[in-house]
Amino acid sequence: MKFGGTSVADAPCIARVVDILEQHHKQGDELAVVVSAQRGVTDQLIEIATKLPESKDASAIEPLIQSLRTRHMTTLKGAAPDYINEVGPIIEERLRDLHNILHAVHNLRELTPRSKDYILSYGERLLAPIIGAALEERGIPSVVLDGCEAGIVTTPQHGESTALPDCDERVRRRLGAVLKNSVPVIMGFMGCTTTGIVTTLGRSGSDYSASIIGAGIDANEIWIWTDVDGIMTSDPRVINDARVMPELSYLEVMELSFFGAKVMHPRSIEPAMRKNILVRVKNTFNPSHPGTTIVRNQKRDDRVVKALTYIERVASVNINGAQMIGRPGVARAIFSALADREVNVMMISQGSSEANISLIIDESHLPVATEALAPLVKQGIVREVIENRNVAAVAVIGSGMVGAPGTGGRIFTALGREGINVMMISQGSCEANISFVVRQEDGPRAVRVLHDEFRLSEASDE
Ligand code: ADP
Ligand code: ASP
Ligand code: MG
Repeated sequence: MKFGGTSVADAPCIARVVDILEQHHKQGDELAVVVSAQRGVTDQLIEIATKLPESKDASAIEPLIQSLRTRHMTTLKGAAPDYINEVGPIIEERLRDLHNILHAVHNLRELTPRSKDYILSYGERLLAPIIGAALEERGIPSVVLDGCEAGIVTTPQHGESTALPDCDERVRRRLGAVLKNSVPVIMGFMGCTTTGIVTTLGRSGSDYSASIIGAGIDANEIWIWTDVDGIMTSDPRVINDARVMPELSYLEVMELSFFGAKVMHPRSIEPAMRKNILVRVKNTFNPSHPGTTIVRNQKRDDRVVKALTYIERVASVNINGAQMIGRPGVARAIFSALADREVNVMMISQGSSEANISLIIDESHLPVATEALAPLVKQGIVREVIENRNVAAVAVIGSGMVGAPGTGGRIFTALGREGINVMMISQGSCEANISFVVRQEDGPRAVRVLHDEFRLSEASDE
């Protein structure tokens, strides 16, 4: 079971978490728990770490440490009052380490990807001992482990690392015996390389940690506890009548999370899918709601379109040039230039005349992408590269679209009727996803129009 940032935001929230765990423990379930940082803490750490190399003094460090101290000590007092003397010094020591590392970053005027990952792992490091103590306080024996101790070894790709195949074996070795007589509380989001350097799995990475752990221990089920009733037809912050979907396939959730649904980390389905483990998404604040069940093959569903996602912070890159026509290797040159600089391409479309290739990338990667592509213009491989930041991507998702004619027609007719101009379209060959790009200001309206067109707020006979 994984609990997200809002679920552990303060002592009353943690009491709910412990209620849930206690209930399952009493039923005789063997449990492994993965926790993320308290809501907002990872953002605070990112903010200070990225600003320190440029700041003229280190005066921002002390107030941050003080606010983390107040928050975590208050949480500890509320959640595990009998453990203040035991866990208080652990929190103090971690705050001292964090303080020292932040000063080092300021003195060196340098934040390497490696030090950034180490700093970001402190949100989870500060919280996990509190959850462990809160369980002990209820008489449930627990063992607190960092990601590395739990067996999560990763690629050295800092900030976005991926679990290595031998995680299964390591996790089983580390947790197998522990599970029999206690509840391991594992710090999510972090792992380490094979040489022990701390890595992070990308934002929202504790979902991924939970799936890696679940696959490693051959769990019967993986439960992701969050602050909404389940995975919804669209982001509830954009669509106020978005509806919780009772059941989705692994493929659908992968498509949803790849295309920006903030509810789950994009790689978190893969370990569960490999072991065919059922995943549930449930609400810590409404535990009796059945939530969303994620399985390999869902029951038959007549709905063609099931969900919509909207990604705001993207940029389009249009690469033009008649030179590209009939010339092998142009695509290779473009994609290897981008891959060399670790620019992640979310969508690709190429006109049949081959004189144009359009890409959608994360907006934050745009400066690096521009640099990476400039030599291709100089070498005459392409004529020009035109960028546009004022775009948003929308993805229409549903495995029922496979082999169902007319869905594309319905999508683009509805958008046309509302005067929304579509700038680029892409459909993967798995057909579970049709995505398109519009002007940024049209994004939310495009989602609204399609949510209505496919009547997603109305329950079907699922
Ligand atoms: P946690 O801290 O539990 O990991 P997150 O904030 O990472 O929670 O993810 C849950 C949030 O994701 C919800 O509060 C909701 O606002 C947002 N969200 C975006 N798209 C969806 C969606 N399709 N279904 C459900 N929630 C979504
Ligand atoms: N604490 C990390 C983050 O904010 C991981 C997570 O919440 O899943 O991204
Ligand atoms: Mg999350």
